Amino acid sequence: MEKRVFSGFRPTGKQHIGNYLGTIQNCVSLQDEYDCIYCVVDIHALTTLEGTETLQKDIYEMVLDWLAAGIDPGKCILFVQSHVPQVMELHTLFSMVTPLSWLLRVPTFKEKVKIQPHNVNYGLVGYPVLMAADIALYKGEVVPVGEDQLPHLELTREIVRRFNSTYGYVFPEPQAKLTSFPLVLGLDGLLKMSKSYNNYIEIAAPPEEILRQVMTAVTDPARRYRSDKGHPDICNIFSLHKFFTPSRVEEIASECRTADIGCVDCKKMLARSISSTLEPFREKRAILASKPDYVTEILADGANRAEALAKETMKEVKDKMRLLQLKS
Ligand code: SF4
Repeated sequence: MEKRVFSGFRPTGKQHIGNYLGTIQNCVSLQDEYDCIYCVVDIHALTTLEGTETLQKDIYEMVLDWLAAGIDPGKCILFVQSHVPQVMELHTLFSMVTPLSWLLRVPTFKEKVKIQPHNVNYGLVGYPVLMAADIALYKGEVVPVGEDQLPHLELTREIVRRFNSTYGYVFPEPQAKLTSFPLVLGLDGLLKMSKSYNNYIEIAAPPEEILRQVMTAVTDPARRYRSDKGHPDICNIFSLHKFFTPSRVEEIASECRTADIGCVDCKKMLARSISSTLEPFREKRAILASKPDYVTEILADGANRAEALAKETMKEVKDKMRLLQLKS
């Protein structure tokens, strides 16, 4: 039987090229190897959101992008965290076996306290407990993580281990599937592409918008005149060509070094490559978007399937904890 993968993603609205080349493509390929459960973690998002005005739209746009990019509900379960309320229940029960000292030493908690000192809410410190509940509720065995997320997963393993040793075995200890996501720099050429840095290109953007955005990107700063020879290895446009124009990368590098190509033409070429690579995605997205209830139907089906698993787990949990259960 295929191992079960669990992965959660904050609702960030329309996805950008960095999301596409990293997370989305990875999730699409995992669907064929594992029993995948993908969850939009809207409750986690509440720990840092200042307001929820755009939350529903962000979930819709993100899910639409994911479905158009190849996430297949026939191969995985795709749902929204809050649609399966048992996760909140397991979170509470896990909080009883989690020492506060474990949570206070989590580096990301300390960072968040610095970033939002005005909003150090209880959810922020309990975040790893909710994450453990997310994974354990569906008996996730494998969790794709970047190296920086390994400490979080280790905490999940500790919580699960503590529960199993206190009350009896219920949960597998999830293993990390170390995944190296490509570093996609933003249009500023300095920081990782991110909505927070406003340096991104949305994958659903029309070709003219992609061209407009690519033309604003920073290139090799030493190349000030058309006749200056360039250094493709330090140019972000070149790094994007590696993803979107793979058949011509060597040629582009050599033409840049000899100044046979200028940055304007090089950028136009990149914009065309991005647009043509994403054309099938845009077409599929437009078709899916034209079906008014498509996204909500997929999410409702995902929630039903996830909740069926969650109910089985919670029955086991309560049996082991000797909580008094009424016959249903
Ligand atoms: Fe970058 Fe292309 Fe300009 Fe070279 S020609 S510096 S690779 S944009």
